[in-house]
Amino acid sequence: MKTEKVETDVLILGGGIAGLTAAIHAAELGAKVVVADKCNTLHSGSGRAGNDDMAAYIPEIHGTLDQYIENYGKGQAGATSRTTPRAVAVTHYTRALEVAQLWDAWGIPMKYKGRWECCGHRFPGLPGPHIKYAGAKQKQVLTEQSLKRGAEIINRVMGLDLLGDAKGVTGAVGVDTRQDRIVEFAAKAVILATGGIGPRMYLGATPALMGNDTSPFTLTGDGRAAAYRLGAELYQMETGGLPTLPQLKNYLRAGKGSWVGVFRYPDGRPVGPYVTKPDHRFGDIISEVGSGELFDPATGKGPIWMDCRGITDDDLEYMEWFLFNEGNKGDLDHMREEGIDFRKHQILFWPTPTRSRGKIWQNEKAETSIKGLYCAGDESHGGIGGAAVFGWVSGEEATKYAKKAKLPSPDKERDKAKIAHWKSSIEAIQTRQYGPNWEDANVALQHTMNDFAGLTRTEPILETGLAHVRRLRKKVDTIMRAVNRWELTRCLETINLYDLAELVILAALERKESRVGTQKRLDYEYTNPLLGGKVLVVKKVADKPVLEWREIQQTIK
Ligand SMILES: Cc1cc2nc3c(=O)[nH]c(=O)nc-3n(C[C@H](O)[C@H](O)[C@H](O)COP(=O)(O)OP(=O)(O)OC[C@H]3O[C@@H](n4cnc5c(N)ncnc54)[C@H](O)[C@@H]3O)c2cc1C
Repeated sequence: MKTEKVETDVLILGGGIAGLTAAIHAAELGAKVVVADKCNTLHSGSGRAGNDDMAAYIPEIHGTLDQYIENYGKGQAGATSRTTPRAVAVTHYTRALEVAQLWDAWGIPMKYKGRWECCGHRFPGLPGPHIKYAGAKQKQVLTEQSLKRGAEIINRVMGLDLLGDAKGVTGAVGVDTRQDRIVEFAAKAVILATGGIGPRMYLGATPALMGNDTSPFTLTGDGRAAAYRLGAELYQMETGGLPTLPQLKNYLRAGKGSWVGVFRYPDGRPVGPYVTKPDHRFGDIISEVGSGELFDPATGKGPIWMDCRGITDDDLEYMEWFLFNEGNKGDLDHMREEGIDFRKHQILFWPTPTRSRGKIWQNEKAETSIKGLYCAGDESHGGIGGAAVFGWVSGEEATKYAKKAKLPSPDKERDKAKIAHWKSSIEAIQTRQYGPNWEDANVALQHTMNDFAGLTRTEPILETGLAHVRRLRKKVDTIMRAVNRWELTRCLETINLYDLAELVILAALERKESRVGTQKRLDYEYTNPLLGGKVLVVKKVADKPVLEWREIQQTIK
C-alpha cells in the first residue's frame, strides 16, 4: 500500500460548511491549510445541495439577545441550545450576522430582495430566528474561496484516526477512497469538521434504500469516533433524534422551515393552533413543536398532510425558491413531472426516523478537551449558523495555536502502531474471500439499535443491546469484506458507527430518567430535576469508556 506524508499548520478533516469556512479564515490569517474530505467538497455533506436558513441574532429585528434566545428556544431547532454551554450558543447567535455578511460578499445570496428576511421556523407574533438565504451554490462558493486563499483541498481521503494522545494531537491518518493509498498527516493543529451522524445508526424510513434520507449516508460520525479514540470528551451521546419533524413521505428531504402551508389531519383539522391558511411568514411551526405523538400509526393518530391549497402566487414562488435552495430540486422536478400541483394537492408527511446525536465537548473558542484539537459544526453545535460561525472561529483559533507550535514529529511509536493497525485492517477487509459486506454489518447494527436502543428504553433491553453491539463489533472487525474502494469506505464508516453505538447505549443506561427530546425510560418514568442543566460526558480512560455528569455551563479552560 502506497503511503504519502503531508505536513501542514492546520489540518481540517471534513470540507463541509464548517470545514471550508475554517479553511478560508485560517488561510487568510497566513496558515498553511490542508482540507481532507472523503467525498468532494463541491457537493458533500449536509449542505451539499443547499440550505435556506441560518440562525442569526439581529438586534433591530429580534430585540435583546435574551429575548432572541428565549423565543428561539420555544421551537425545536433552538431547543438544542439547552444542551450547549451558553457561551457557545451566544457566540453562534451574535457572530452569525458577521459571517453571513462575508458569505453574501463572496456570492452566496444571504438577503431576499435586498433585505434580511427572517421567516420560517417562526411562531405568529414572534420574529423569525433565521435569516432566509439562497444556499444552492454555497459549496461551490466556499470551495472557490478556500482555494483562492491558498488552502489545499484533498478530496476522496477519509480521515480514519487522529495521531498523538489525550494530551495533544499531532496529526491524522487517512485513507484514499479511490486508490490504494494511506495518507499520514503531520499537523500543528487539527480541526474536526466531519459533520453529524446521518441515517445509518438507526433504520431509515425506507430501510431497503439506506441512502433515501435527508442527510447524506456518508455522514457516520467519523470525527467524533476518532476524537473519542484519542481521548477527547463527547457528550449527549444518549440523545436520540427527535422523531417529531414530519418529512415529505418517501422523499425524505428537508425544508421544514421552507414549506408554506398548514399541517392537517385527514378530516381537515389543522394539526396545530398556529396557522389556518398558508402564509410565507410562518409556515406551520407545529412540525417543530409537536412530538411524534402528533402522528403515530400505533395509536391511530394521523396521517398528516401538508396543505398548501389557497397559497397566493407570490407565496408559491417564495416557497418553491426556498425549497429549491434547500436542496429539493429533484423533488420539485419530480412533482412537476407527476402533475402534483401545490395549489390543488395535499402532500403526505411522515415523522423523521430516529437519529443518533451526540457532540464533541467544545468551548466558545472551538477548543476540545485535547490540546491543538478543535471542532466545528455538527460535530458539536451545528446548524448552518453554528457551522459557519465555529468554522470561522476554529480557523482563527487553530491558526493562533499553530503559529506558536512546532510541527510535531509524526514517527512516534504509538502513531506507527496506529497507522499499522489501519493498514492491516484495510488489507484484511480487501483480501478476505468470504464474509458479509458492509451492508450486512450496517443493517445488523441498525436493527440492533432500533430494537434495543430506540427512544423508549429499559435497563434489561439496553443491556441486551449492549451485549449485542459489543459482540457484533468484534465480529465485523474480523469478517467484513469489500470488493472495491467504495465498499471499503462503507466498511470503515460502519466500524465508526459501532464504536459510537456502544457509547449511545452506555450513556442511555446511565441516564436513569425520562426527558423530552432525549429518551423515555419505562423503568424511570419521571424527569429528574437534579439532572436539569447537566450533561453526560464520556471519554476513554485506560481503554475503557468512563461516564461523568457535568454542569452544562462548565467550560474548557
Ligand atoms: C437537506 C438538509 C437541509 C438542511 N437545511 C438547513 C437549514 O436550512 N438551516 C440550518 O441551519 N441547517 C440546515 N441543515 C443542517 C445543516 O446542513 C448542517 O447543520 C451543516 O451542514 C453542518 O455543517 P458541517 O460542516 O458541520 O457538516 P457537513 O456540511 O455535513 O460537512 C461534513 C463534511 O465532512 C466530510 N466528512 C465526513 N467524514 C469524513 C472523514 N472521515 N474524513 C474526511 N471528510 C469527512 C463530508 O464529506 C462533508 O463534506 C440541513 C441539513 C440537511 C441534510
